[in-house]
Amino acid sequence: MPQPEFTVHSAVDGIAWPGIPAANGAAMLSILFQLESSQWWPEERLLARQRDQLARLLSHAAAQVPFYRGRLAQGLSELPVDSSWMEAWRRIPLLRREEIQAADDAEAMLADALPAGHGDWREIFTSGSTGQPIRSVRSQLWELVWSAFTVRDHLWHRRDLAGTFATIRESGKGKAPWPEGTESASWGYSTDTVFATGPLVGLNITTPIDRQVEWLLRRDPDYLLTHPSIAKALAEACLTQGVRPARLKEVITISETLRPGVREACHTAWGVPVSDIYSTREAGYLALQCPYGEGYHVQSESVFLEVLDNAGQPCGPGQVGRVVVTPLHNFAMPLIRYDIGDLAEVGPPCFCGRGLPVLRRILGRTQNMLLLPSGERRWPLLSSPDIGALLSAAPPLQGYQLAQTALHRIELRLVVARPLASEEEKALRHWVQEKFGPTFEITLVYLPDLPRTASGKFEDFRCEVVVP
Ligand SMILES: [Zn+2]
Repeated sequence: MPQPEFTVHSAVDGIAWPGIPAANGAAMLSILFQLESSQWWPEERLLARQRDQLARLLSHAAAQVPFYRGRLAQGLSELPVDSSWMEAWRRIPLLRREEIQAADDAEAMLADALPAGHGDWREIFTSGSTGQPIRSVRSQLWELVWSAFTVRDHLWHRRDLAGTFATIRESGKGKAPWPEGTESASWGYSTDTVFATGPLVGLNITTPIDRQVEWLLRRDPDYLLTHPSIAKALAEACLTQGVRPARLKEVITISETLRPGVREACHTAWGVPVSDIYSTREAGYLALQCPYGEGYHVQSESVFLEVLDNAGQPCGPGQVGRVVVTPLHNFAMPLIRYDIGDLAEVGPPCFCGRGLPVLRRILGRTQNMLLLPSGERRWPLLSSPDIGALLSAAPPLQGYQLAQTALHRIELRLVVARPLASEEEKALRHWVQEKFGPTFEITLVYLPDLPRTASGKFEDFRCEVVVP
């Protein structure tokens, strides 16, 4: 197989090749060098290294972070060296988003001091799907580690770093506006730390799809990074218009759950694969798609990720559970056993041979599950045949969103090419009734566009019932 060509930025006068990077680049290359090997390790070896890193994180948190001083009292901050460490670990209570917010409001979530070498503090805000902002503070060191995983994803998928990288993800009002969007000379901090790259172009995600298509054709990128719902809409619009961005090689999806139909749409319209990334702004990279399949490899060198059943026990292959994460390297604002509110299905070991644990699929936010009168929640999985049936019930359908607006009401929000005939409306109602059951009252609502969250996320099913 031909090897991708890299140019390492050289910081030494007179040396062009092989490049010798400056301190940050050297640190990142040392991480990448270790990742090349550790990805093939058996699970036990990965776990042993994770244990050592978690032990350091716990003792730092217990000593330096006011919130954890109480939470990790009574010996919870000490992990045994032998294999019983996992039992000790599971005695640490799960951390919920509300607890982070409350502790942060009381100024108790940040470390009093960072160990030497972790650099400065960096602050970001995430809106979350609840709209309630959560502050996340990172160290410079964690940013560097984070960047190594951005580069790992490029390496895994053998991207040509000299190519043009397009992103349609910016949601801020007035930022990266059509027709120009933004343009910079390189792919950004993560790759710049070590490698020379081609240009980066960006467009606001709220731009109408036809204008996004026009921009995409004009910019003609090699890679497109965006939300799955946008990738699908772009692919479908290109197919309808009979156009294709000539150089496009791959679509990279982030932020939303990858739903059925996105891979198919990108393949049909453009003949390109989709590589999905599972990450959150407060916890970093959680899992990256395997270069040889559609499963995800947990990024165990960066995060300790648990998938737990209702009893708090780890799920096995084929089981779906809550995703609980502990980023290993953020000493500025440690998140220990943070229940991020997603569900995922554990997969069997991957045929590619990597020892990094496998998630077969990520199902999305638990708060967007259907709420039953009993208080239980259920995930209304929309399979590919389900969606096919929905679309054939009303062919003018261009977009849809299902929302539970009350305990017994489902709203089907529609974007249509022409007003629907009463037969088509009837067929849609029938589809919803079949999918959700006879106890629901169904409302059809016509919209010019489907609503997105403040961060530009689209969810095909939303639960909007306010739980007291
Ligand atoms: Zn694999």
